[in-house]
Amino acid sequence: MKHLILILACIFSFHAMQAQILNKEVFSLLNLDYPGLEKVKEAYFDDKLEVAAQELLTYYRQRTGIVNPFLDLNHITISETEQKWADDALEHTFFAHNGYQPSYNYGKDINWQYWPVKDNELRWQLHRHKWFTPMGKAYWLTKDEKYAKEWVYQFTDWIKKNPLQQIDPILYEVYDVNEVTGIAENVRFAWRPLEASGRLKDQINQFTLFLNAQAFTPAFLTDFLVNYFRHARHTMDNYSQQGNHLLFEAEYVLCAGIFFPEFIEAPNWRKSGTDILNREIKKQVYADGGQYELDLGYHLGCIEIFSDALKMAQENGYGDEFPASYTETIKKMIQFSMNVYFPDYTYPCFSDARRPAPFSQIRNFQRWLKLFPENEQLRYFATQGKEGKLPDELCHAAAKTGFFTFRNGWGQDATVMILKAGPKGEWHCQPDNGTFELWFNGKNLFPDSGSYIYGGNEEVWKKRNWFRQTMVHNTLTLNNKNLETTQSVTKLWEKLPNAQVLVTENPSYEGLSHRRSVFFVDNSFFVIVDEAFGEATGIVNLHYQLCDGKVDIDKQKNLLCTRYAGNSNAVLRCFGPDSMQMVEEEGWYSTAYLQRTQRPAIAFNAVKSTPEPVRYITVIYPDKKVKKSMKMSVSVKSATGHKMAIEVNVNHKTYNLGYELE
Ligand code: MG
Repeated sequence: MKHLILILACIFSFHAMQAQILNKEVFSLLNLDYPGLEKVKEAYFDDKLEVAAQELLTYYRQRTGIVNPFLDLNHITISETEQKWADDALEHTFFAHNGYQPSYNYGKDINWQYWPVKDNELRWQLHRHKWFTPMGKAYWLTKDEKYAKEWVYQFTDWIKKNPLQQIDPILYEVYDVNEVTGIAENVRFAWRPLEASGRLKDQINQFTLFLNAQAFTPAFLTDFLVNYFRHARHTMDNYSQQGNHLLFEAEYVLCAGIFFPEFIEAPNWRKSGTDILNREIKKQVYADGGQYELDLGYHLGCIEIFSDALKMAQENGYGDEFPASYTETIKKMIQFSMNVYFPDYTYPCFSDARRPAPFSQIRNFQRWLKLFPENEQLRYFATQGKEGKLPDELCHAAAKTGFFTFRNGWGQDATVMILKAGPKGEWHCQPDNGTFELWFNGKNLFPDSGSYIYGGNEEVWKKRNWFRQTMVHNTLTLNNKNLETTQSVTKLWEKLPNAQVLVTENPSYEGLSHRRSVFFVDNSFFVIVDEAFGEATGIVNLHYQLCDGKVDIDKQKNLLCTRYAGNSNAVLRCFGPDSMQMVEEEGWYSTAYLQRTQRPAIAFNAVKSTPEPVRYITVIYPDKKVKKSMKMSVSVKSATGHKMAIEVNVNHKTYNLGYELE
């Protein structure tokens, strides 16, 4: 019967709720036998709904025992930025997205459908209400009712103007703006499960911060809770199919279930979130600790999801709902991270990742250290080397995820190449197999092109697609086309006496495979052998994208020397077929949303007219200052497909490099 009432309540609930009108639906959603709700129950069954609502508010204002580990009420602080978001919001200027600054004004009578630039993210993220929690902090710190009053107004206005209507869940995953019209047009933005579930989590903080405000009336509480219930139910009915979205949604549903145990359905929410996280951590994290979307930003995000969910559960007595293997996997993910960081704690912008500010990521290590206080390596990174121990190995392979690190040290003066060559990685992953970033002596010499923007209308897509192209990465293409298949296989990862070697192969195109062999020679420079095998014919292109700044190009010698200010430079020289030509290409890189920097980019093009493989050998020699006159030569002694032997002469030294595959 209870369930029938509940279902009917959902179907017949109307959304035109006013702040001061009590929403009695709430009493059918709560377990009135929950300890502490005795007076609420009594008043409800006496048909004194106003009293019941008042008792409910009193209950929440006095409630103890539920821990919100994400908000320390004794030490609330507000940053300058948060204060600005809170104050701007009083005028309905809402912070939706970093890429669109200054923020837009949404009108006195708020237009939640205002969409000045047809970028999906701008519209989705408006519905994340990022200014609400800052308003809560501003209220908490000043007790100025204007923040609470305005929050209640906007909260209620949002509910009224963004009714939840059922749409085909597939529409939540659509990125092309022209594909969705009618009712679904707004619903897919306002109620995408990622945003809806995010509000579940954020509203826990808002609830905590505003609960004692005058504007937080008993009637508003009933609206708040009914809306909250609807969010949890909607998220569970519309979970994303996979990936980080599903993880976020599961974490937030779990938090909802734990923070509001008074809901009849709360135990189901908690179980649903826990079950998904326990299932997905096995599916989305490879044994080497890499998250399967192959995007280091999301990799980090997923560590946070898994560990925040665990924290919420542990601090509220549900820690044993996660097995020891769950925690072990989080540890592996963190170890994976350590190995893909540059010495300034930044990481490559592969796929959709954006570059964090130098050293800003130390705080992750500090947080993780609390989770694993016995881990000496974590301690090293959390303290910037003041305490703890370095990892045992410099070079590291996460071969299943396809992230390979060549490293000669951990300090700012180190040489570090991080190369990506993994399996298919879904939406956020770019067709960039074989690409790399290279850090030398404090500078990233080959930054990834990044992503620049996500999806939207045609104009937005055009921008996104430029940055996704295979040919704007440090890898090989056929006729400058995007890779058709992204499924690299690691053939070899081995320490030779004079080099660390990686051999990775991707079946890039119909009739053309790309094998890339990277030798990190003498702990100081790189020899990259690129081979294009197969029946396909056309122009084979080998692309390199540099850092912005001056470079000297000598097309006769197939040589590039950087002329960057400071003590971080490189010589790049390519040895290839006789027909090879060096060309300059359009180059950009983006490390933040809608920000881009022009940079030099080059390609070596050679004709492939027979099934014979085309082979390029590139020497990249990083040094403080470099000379064009530097002596360099290579000769291939043997290359049979499974065996390679080359001799490289650099700076009057001879290196014999090679391997034999099994
Ligand atoms: Mg990229």
